[in-house]
Amino acid sequence: MMTPAERGMALAEEPDGPRGKGLYYVRTLGCQMNVHDSERIAGVLEAQGYRPASLEQARALDLDLLVLNTCAVRENASKRMYGTIGKWARLKQANPQAQIAVGGCMAQKDRERIARRAPWVDAVFGTKNIGDLPGLLDRARGQHRPQVQVSDRLSAFPADLPAVRGSKSSAWVAISVGCNNTCTFCIVPQVRGRERDRPLGDVLAEVERCVAAGAKEVTLLGQNVNSYGYSMGQRDAFSRLLRACGGVEGLERVRFTSPHPAAFTDEVIAAMAETPNVMHQLHMPLQSGSDRILRAMRRSYRSERFLSILDKVRRAMPDAQISTDVIVGFPGESEEDFQATMDLMGRARFSSAFIFEYSPRPGTPAAAMEQVPKPVVQERFDRLLALQERITQGNLDSFVGRRAEVMIAQRQGRRDGMTHRVTGRERGGVLVHVGVPEGQPVPEVGDLVACTITGAGKHYLTADPDPSQGQAYALSH
Ligand code: SF4
Repeated sequence: MMTPAERGMALAEEPDGPRGKGLYYVRTLGCQMNVHDSERIAGVLEAQGYRPASLEQARALDLDLLVLNTCAVRENASKRMYGTIGKWARLKQANPQAQIAVGGCMAQKDRERIARRAPWVDAVFGTKNIGDLPGLLDRARGQHRPQVQVSDRLSAFPADLPAVRGSKSSAWVAISVGCNNTCTFCIVPQVRGRERDRPLGDVLAEVERCVAAGAKEVTLLGQNVNSYGYSMGQRDAFSRLLRACGGVEGLERVRFTSPHPAAFTDEVIAAMAETPNVMHQLHMPLQSGSDRILRAMRRSYRSERFLSILDKVRRAMPDAQISTDVIVGFPGESEEDFQATMDLMGRARFSSAFIFEYSPRPGTPAAAMEQVPKPVVQERFDRLLALQERITQGNLDSFVGRRAEVMIAQRQGRRDGMTHRVTGRERGGVLVHVGVPEGQPVPEVGDLVACTITGAGKHYLTADPDPSQGQAYALSH
């Protein structure tokens, strides 16, 4: 077996060997935008000759490059990042030739501080510097010191970089980056910058390339997806994009995340309802049901406007699955404000909700406001969660006995060995575990299965159809 030093030399001499320029592994923290950025990081590295490590190699730290793509939005983001980098110091002890790189929103925010606190990190790259990573790694190797590159301005849209996509049947396509809003709890505008939109033709060309490569489903991504086009003076651009996706041959499903209620226009609702391959799924962040708190959060809509959007969506698409994000315990939230959120959640009847206890993000205006005591926040969180869980369960139960069309994402579902289950999502995005009836064909990833829903779990549905009882099971490729 080669020593780490010998391996480093072999890599330098034989970049076309089985390890290429080196084996890499990317660990991703945070949202879909970060997951998609990691696909770009992988694409950039592989274009330079790096090879992906298997999970076993990553677990055994049999690696030449570890990349951490960080998130600044979640609670304790800084602690999590430094904790992970601290653990990764082991890699350098075992293999001094190996390199460590840190990117994403925390890298954008902390910059040189990362290299100072963790000098074993070789490269720190910002959210707008994914394409610079291989060069930084080469420089760090040559100069024997950490390299930091964090730009505040986007020179090229990240979508112009190559990507290694995690799924063949479903693809993420970024339509914009950054955000022009100034919500007082949010760090995104600081770390991602102002919104920049991609031209519609570029987005469509990427959608078509994904479909040509085997994707049947595309999710359009943006921090504020429906304000797409505003920066180009085209207020109807998002609805036009949805309708244009309807014309892409072979594209079965189009989803998008996340819209902002302020820019959710009637044109967008009409485009969703009238374009057959746009799914009736909507994740619309509410954040609070109290107008006073919405104002303090600097969210530009009010509760009645929010509810009126939901009404319009449901009138146009009675099967719409609408989910949300809510923050409990925002600074200054009184019991009355919280009750307004409880009332609104009861009226809105979201199919599901991500409920967060407010926690300050350093550098945001809300972090400096007077905080609600932790036990109060916890008690409110429990009350809201209990309410939402009852609503979510009622919604899932309403599927039982109905027919759903499921796109298969995984060939091994729950209790797979016992019931030959496969797993996918129905049109509204709900997870469904499908039992393949005896003697029926087993679907492949990306296939559509029309089946009768026979049960509802806590956050998923099951379909164990019995065709002899008239229950549906039909496969289409
Ligand atoms: S809309 Fe508000 S919460 Fe969403 S990314 Fe922009 S600033 Fe953050």
